Amino acid sequence: MKDSFNANPRPHFVIVPLMAQGHMIPAVDMARLLADEGATISFITTPVNAARIRPIIDIIHNSSLPISFIELRFPSAEAGIPDDCENFDLITSEHLLKPFVEALPLLCPQLESYLQQSSTPKPDCIIADNLHYWTVEVARKFGIPRLVFHGPSCFYIYCSTVLRRRKMLDEIEDDFQVFELPEMPEKIEVMKAQVRRWVESPDGYNIRQMLYAGEEAADGIVINTFDELEPWYIDSYRKKALGKKVWTIGPLSLYNKHIEDRASRGKPSSIDGGVLLQWLNGKTSNSVILVSFGSLSRNPFPQIIEIGYALEASKIPFIWVVKEADSAAAGDTETDKWMSEFEERTRLTGLVIRGWAPQSVILSHEAVGGFMTHCGWNSTLEAIAAGVPMVTWPRFGDQFLNERLVVDVLKVGVAVAVKLPPTKVVMAAAEKGLRVVRREEVEEAVRKLMGRGKEAEERRKRVREFGVMATKAMEDGGSSFHNLKDLINFAASHST
Ligand code: UDP
Repeated sequence: MKDSFNANPRPHFVIVPLMAQGHMIPAVDMARLLADEGATISFITTPVNAARIRPIIDIIHNSSLPISFIELRFPSAEAGIPDDCENFDLITSEHLLKPFVEALPLLCPQLESYLQQSSTPKPDCIIADNLHYWTVEVARKFGIPRLVFHGPSCFYIYCSTVLRRRKMLDEIEDDFQVFELPEMPEKIEVMKAQVRRWVESPDGYNIRQMLYAGEEAADGIVINTFDELEPWYIDSYRKKALGKKVWTIGPLSLYNKHIEDRASRGKPSSIDGGVLLQWLNGKTSNSVILVSFGSLSRNPFPQIIEIGYALEASKIPFIWVVKEADSAAAGDTETDKWMSEFEERTRLTGLVIRGWAPQSVILSHEAVGGFMTHCGWNSTLEAIAAGVPMVTWPRFGDQFLNERLVVDVLKVGVAVAVKLPPTKVVMAAAEKGLRVVRREEVEEAVRKLMGRGKEAEERRKRVREFGVMATKAMEDGGSSFHNLKDLINFAASHST
């Protein structure tokens, strides 16, 4: 651990992540990076979330990094949601989404009382997820800056800022009309249904107003990306769209240099590490495709069958992460039975992980040469950092725009050509509205990605080059490393 602030006390960051895997995982990485480079951290969490990340908390405690995990009681009762429903991936029904988000501001008194305790070091800076807009008041009360941590790509953030400022979505009536995004250096076409966020639905009206006000009031923005990946969009967001400081400090996943660190991200893995490595070590370089759709997306049974038959027909070695067949899932015997027969048939080419996979471990193994992904930003960036090209299959939120970045701008992906998001919003239940993508379409995309043709080789070369740039960005002297130092200096300069 380095202490780069001899003149200043270690600035104290209060990190308030959204309780969702795609936000907690990079927030833990960010906390470790900041602490490693001279900051003190209070990481705000809740009992259920802390229990899930206990292995990483233990690693951190043993490393003596100055990070305290502060467990606030999640206000489930006040919000009318079930006990223990403390993370987006524990929301079992769509009608719980709004109460879950409305519960978040109820954490405010507990956070304030923690910060007022005499044993708590004086806070210097809050980094909060943008759904924690209520931290504006906390920052004001303690007279400290508040930065917004954005989960998605800068491409997505820039595009949605432009769309919002121009009120473009209000002018388009047809959800499925294709239109070109304005103020872009390349031609990017989308549908309203693909870019509209949940907060832009009538249901999200009040939250939307507070979220936008919270973004406007922020003293700066922190994003998990790196300057060399999406330079035009980062620059335009910094200068044109925002006019305030933007710290790009990623890919945060690259903080995890040791396999033990990579293996303990998110939740305990559903597969034994030794079994996994033995399987991967037995495969030739770049021969395996990883198929996984993040922490929230679920495929309906008819879609699972199509994916399975496509993988089987392709004869390409695969690791398929099937959360729908997790033994902890709601006893879906139909899926369970089909998966068991499938596993039996494909046991020579494939490995099925039912539940949580150590994704970073898999992606960084040299046997892995492709990734079928839902385009969650963390998964996308982890693939880029590992130099792995993608089959893109977005579902909701920022994922359709992330796909455009991967396929149209970076040219490191093959789209499975899903045009329509589910008719409603996120979560497993809502995905019932998805069109089933036929096995031939899935197989074609997999073959295209994993093939040996010129196009596939160029895609591979390009993503490897981005991977090298990603590693350099995080090293001493790299752009993200520089920005991280600058972020610490910013907080230190506000220290009184
Ligand atoms: N992840 C993982 N194992 C899994 C599923 C997901 O380690 O079985 C991690 C993945 O590496 C990423 C995060 O969970 O860091 C998912 O975030 P992302 O933004 O990709 O998607 P989301 O889950 O938010 O839709």
